[in-house]
Amino acid sequence: MTHPAQPKASHFINGAYVEDTAGTPIPVIYAATGEQIATVYAATPAIVEQALSTAKEAQKAWGKMTGTERGRILRRAADIMRARNHELSVLETYDTGKPLQETLVADATSGADALEYFGGLAGSLTGEHIPMGEDWVYTVREALGLCVGIGAWNYPTQIACWKGAPALACGNSMVFKPSETTPLCALKVAEILHEAGLPAGLYNVIQGMGEVGAALVTDPRVDKVSLTGSVPTGKKVYAAAAAGMKHVTMELGGKSPLIIFDDADVENAVGGAINGNFYSSGQVCSNGTRVFVQKGIKEKFLARLAERTGAAVLGDPQDEATSFGPMVTENQMNIVLGYIEKGKEEGARLICGGKRADMPGFFVEPTVFADVTDDMTIAREEIFGPVMSVLDFDTEEEVIARANDTEFGLSAGVFTNDFSRAHRVIGQLEAGSCFINSYNDAPVEAPFGGVKASGVGRENSKEAIKHFSQVKSVYVRMGDVEAAF
Ligand code: NAD
Repeated sequence: MTHPAQPKASHFINGAYVEDTAGTPIPVIYAATGEQIATVYAATPAIVEQALSTAKEAQKAWGKMTGTERGRILRRAADIMRARNHELSVLETYDTGKPLQETLVADATSGADALEYFGGLAGSLTGEHIPMGEDWVYTVREALGLCVGIGAWNYPTQIACWKGAPALACGNSMVFKPSETTPLCALKVAEILHEAGLPAGLYNVIQGMGEVGAALVTDPRVDKVSLTGSVPTGKKVYAAAAAGMKHVTMELGGKSPLIIFDDADVENAVGGAINGNFYSSGQVCSNGTRVFVQKGIKEKFLARLAERTGAAVLGDPQDEATSFGPMVTENQMNIVLGYIEKGKEEGARLICGGKRADMPGFFVEPTVFADVTDDMTIAREEIFGPVMSVLDFDTEEEVIARANDTEFGLSAGVFTNDFSRAHRVIGQLEAGSCFINSYNDAPVEAPFGGVKASGVGRENSKEAIKHFSQVKSVYVRMGDVEAAF
């Protein structure tokens, strides 16, 4: 019997599901059991061509509609998404293995927030009038044209919406390629947008590995590329986009610091560290995986952390009582287990977890290492799994320097009850998305993105509008034109 997660077809182009079984088959494996639940096929060159040509053509009329008309469709899509939240959350759980307890509140709901927010902004995207004596300049905020979105596997619905909603609000069309690991959810986003009245051809989803992404990025018809992925992929995609002088947004990886001072509320700090390391089983780009704890509260912090981490419920992700799911793939599980071994070898002190869970699926126990030093592999490289490194520090000055000593710069957090210190420290941390006495909140109203190797550009908020549109300026002369001859 066909599994309910199996989509009608692999791709969604020009307002309809499209299949081409000549492409490489991509098995979809449910991470909680290891069973294959669906198959999609990578886009062939013919599918890539169909998606790009249809998106290029459809954009012309969409860009000419009023922002209010465009926004109305996005807001209708948000309503449909919310109404179908349960079904979409179940699918997100099959696609990623993340527990339903999370997906019910974090995925389709945050996708709907993006559709609603950018739908609301669409009608207010205006230019400026700049007086120049008798003459004047006016500016027009125009669409970029055809945008490509490429997704990572941790938030397939959210990423499809975080890229699609601002792109469409600004009058662009989009071809979106989900991660080959989680190909299912973006198809639902396309389906819902069209059910809400989006004209055919404006939001297309095609499947495939890196080659399909590369074919999209290098096509001369594409005006902008927005990638969510790792730093090595980001460097390749950025370089390929630069060759065609395309606009880019790069949402990449991190190894973010979470700094906990002696005066912090220990329960809140432990909660922040749990949210910043174990949500989505640690598969979150902005995670605060280097937890710097001031020596005075170190043992108290570790004791409460071990106690609360012990309460994680590993189990069937479709059971709402489960609070901690598997790694997305067997491969990712093995990568994470490899880092755990490295941590042990390099002399970090294991506080809890530290191995594969004794159950079906790709579960790794939530793992905490203490006495981690700055040069250890687990403190330098992005693990993308549930492995928290706790490092000690003495002074504010020292911890800021150590927190910044990384190529990454996505996020940073500070827990302290001294508010002037909180702002002073955050002001010196090299990171794009920061938190005070909290961790990993990502509302659509707030800009999201990294500095240094963690990225270029911002998603969400009014900032995203700047990255999906461009400004035309027009000088208007009222008098005669003076010329030298
Ligand atoms: P990845 O870099 O392996 O792949 C990302 C996407 O890029 C996939 O769809 C892949 O098929 C595509 N791709 C690969 N090579 C390509 C090429 N040459 N040209 C075009 N496309 C190509 O990342 P992943 O393993 O899917 O996701 C995990 C990574 O994503 C982590 O590093 C994580 O930190 C990062 N991430 C960042 C954010 C953020 O917003 N900053 C959010 C989620 C995940």
